Formats: sequence, C-alpha cells, structure tokens
Amino acid sequence: MKVLVTGGAGYIGSHTVLELLRLEHEVTVIDDLSNSSIESIRRVEKLSARKVKFYQGNILDKNLLRTVFGRNTFTTVIHFAGYKAVGESIKEPLSYYHNNITGTISLVEEMLKYRVHNLIFSSSATVYGSASVPPYNENSELGQPTSPYGQTKLIIEQVLQDVVSSNSDFKVSSLRYFNPIGADESGEIGEDPKGIPNNLMPFISQVASGKLDKLSIFGSDYKTEDGTCERDYVHVTDLANGHVNALNWIEKQKLSVFEVFNLGTGKPSSVLQMVNSFQQHTKQRIPFEIVDKRPGDLAAFWADVNKAERDLNWSAKKSLRNMMEDTWNWQKNNPNGY
Ligand code: NAD
Ligand code: UDP
Repeated sequence: MKVLVTGGAGYIGSHTVLELLRLEHEVTVIDDLSNSSIESIRRVEKLSARKVKFYQGNILDKNLLRTVFGRNTFTTVIHFAGYKAVGESIKEPLSYYHNNITGTISLVEEMLKYRVHNLIFSSSATVYGSASVPPYNENSELGQPTSPYGQTKLIIEQVLQDVVSSNSDFKVSSLRYFNPIGADESGEIGEDPKGIPNNLMPFISQVASGKLDKLSIFGSDYKTEDGTCERDYVHVTDLANGHVNALNWIEKQKLSVFEVFNLGTGKPSSVLQMVNSFQQHTKQRIPFEIVDKRPGDLAAFWADVNKAERDLNWSAKKSLRNMMEDTWNWQKNNPNGY
C-alpha cells in the first residue's frame, strides 16, 4: 500500500516506517525535523534495504502539502507529526494548540481535497480523565487532561469525529498509546530526546550511560503496591505493528467510521519495578532518590486491550525484559543519539 507518514522521522514514526518497509509498503514521509534527525530515516532505509520518499517541511505549509498530495497517491495517512512535551506545553500552550490542532486541520483539509480518506491518528491515554478507573477501556469517561498537550489530543479526536460525521467517505482510527518505550532490536534506531529527558525510560538509560547522575523518583506514597506510580509500558516495535494492523483494518472498512483503540500491554508496572527490571536485565546500576510528586501525575493507569485484540487482531508480544535490553542496546551504541 502507499502510505503517507507525517512525523515519520520521530521516535514512534521511524519504528513504524521500518515495519511498513519490511512489509514492502511504499512510504512517503513529511517531517520538519523539529524534534528528530534525518539520520533516523537513513538508518531505517539501511535496515530495510528499501527507500523512503522524504519531504522535509511542516504540515502547516499548504504549498508543501499540495506538492506532496499532487505528486503522489496514497491510500492512507498515518499522522504522528506534533509536539509532545507535557511540561513545555504548559509554558507554551499556543504553540502546542497551533502545531497540533491547526496542523491536523491543515492536513485533513488537503486529504479531503485530494480524496485520501483513511487516517490513522496518534492519540494518547492522556485523554482519559482522572475520573476513570483503570484499566481504561475505549468507553471509559474522557476527562480533563492535565496539560495543553493532552487537551490537543482530546480536541483533535473531537475534530476528527466531526469530520467523519460530515463526510460519508472519511475513515479514522485513533490509536491511544499508553507508554511507548524500547527500540528496534537492531539498536540502530531509538528514542533520542533533546536535552534532559522528561520521560522515565530515557532518563533511566541516560543514568546508565553516565550522562546523568541519578534518577529522581517522583513520589513514593501513592496508593499503589510499592507506593510509586504505575503505568502500562509498551514496546515501540509492538506499537509500530499496531499501526500496521490498523492500516489493514482501515483499508477494509466500507463505510465512514471513527474508531478508537487502546494500544498497551494491559499490565501495569511501577517506577521501582522499572528500575529493578532495567538493572536486572542490563546489569547496569541505577542510583535513585525519592523526591516530591510531579504535579499532575496520576497514581496508576493501564489499558484494557480487548478491543485491539478483537478488532485489529493485535496484541503486544514483547516482554519487559525485551524493552529493557533493547533500550540499553540503543543507548549504549548511540550514547549521544543520532
Ligand atoms: P517525536 O517528537 O519523536 O515525533 C514527532 C515528529 O513530528 C518529529 O520527528 C517532529 O520533527 C515532527 N513534527 C512535529 N511537528 C511537525 C509539523 N508541524 N510538521 C511536520 N513535522 C512535525 O514524538 P513521538 O514520541 O514519536 O510521538 C509521535 C506521536 O505520538 C505524537 O503525535 C505524540 O503526541 C504521540 N504520542 C506519543 C507518546 C510517547 O510517549 N512518545 C504517547 C502518546 C502519544
Ligand atoms: N517518573 C519519575 N522520574 C522521572 C520521570 C518519570 O519518577 O524522571 C515517573 C513519573 O512520575 C510517572 C512515570 O515515571 O509515574 C512515567 O512517567 P513518564 O513521564 O515517562 O510518562 P507519563 O507520566 O506521561 O505516563
């Protein structure tokens, strides 16, 4: 199939492009490289021994979109492009609302003009509110996300739902990711955050490589088994394959549809369990201290994954051990990222 991937040079995008190429799909990528490097595309091409058609630019740029849609035909767009740093979104809300929401509107307008009717969107578990009780299923109440970043995901889902209601051809699969971690098992591509990482896993791996001194664990008196927060960590290659299954699913839909799917493992792990698992499987020591809670953190959430299993025929295959080993393999081979 011919697929356009926005944000395809980024962390999840590059792993998804790799899986698509391995299955011999034709892939075009638009990415402005605002949070990624062209090197990820080069490595994906090398790993798959196939070519990507790459356009460097912003999805807000209508001229670029017209060039891309005018010169190529696509069956489906997989839309990763967006900003994702929770803390930054609190400081710069307008830039997040503009890039994520206006960016998506700009993309969908051109899709409709060029009659490209299938869209797979990167949503997030952050759309479930604190009112919901985990495990979250797709019918769990949606809440008030704690950041402008989370709001953009909720608003975009609403926008896409309205477009589907107004257009009898448009189909959307919105994938709500839980906590993606890990790297391709080759160790050639992985997560390459700019500056000090905000997320747990890249922080742990940079402590292991000696770039950071120690991990700060945000809170140890949550109402969880060991007092630290629990999340549903899912291997990025499993997540990438979730997109492949969503692609097959969306191509089969005859009628206009908006459908959401959780992508997670269905199993929670605590921060302390993550630290211990990393130490056990990589033999690296992770010094840590317990510090104050991080504002906005929920104690625990994980996915009910029955719907993705049933309708997408997808489930996460990789273990916590795979996630730790693959994260470390990428980090130790690429201590400074790309
Ligand atoms: P990432 O930052 O690595 O990838 C996003 C890519 O989009 C980057 O390569 C960036 O350069 C590009 N980009 C950003 N704005 C753009 C624009 N306007 N035009 C063109 N390119 C643009 O992030 P990721 O972790 O791979 O996340 C991909 C998507 O998944 C994002 O939409 C993110 O919000 C969503 N998501 C991520 C997580 C996570 O934990 N990583 C969880 C839930 C949802
Ligand atoms: N966390 C932590 N120290 C860090 C980064 C994260 O203790 O330096 C904790 C955080 O409080 C949360 C979990 O690890 O409970 C996962 O955090 P992350 O930011 O990776 O994901 P999210 O909070 O978005 O689920």
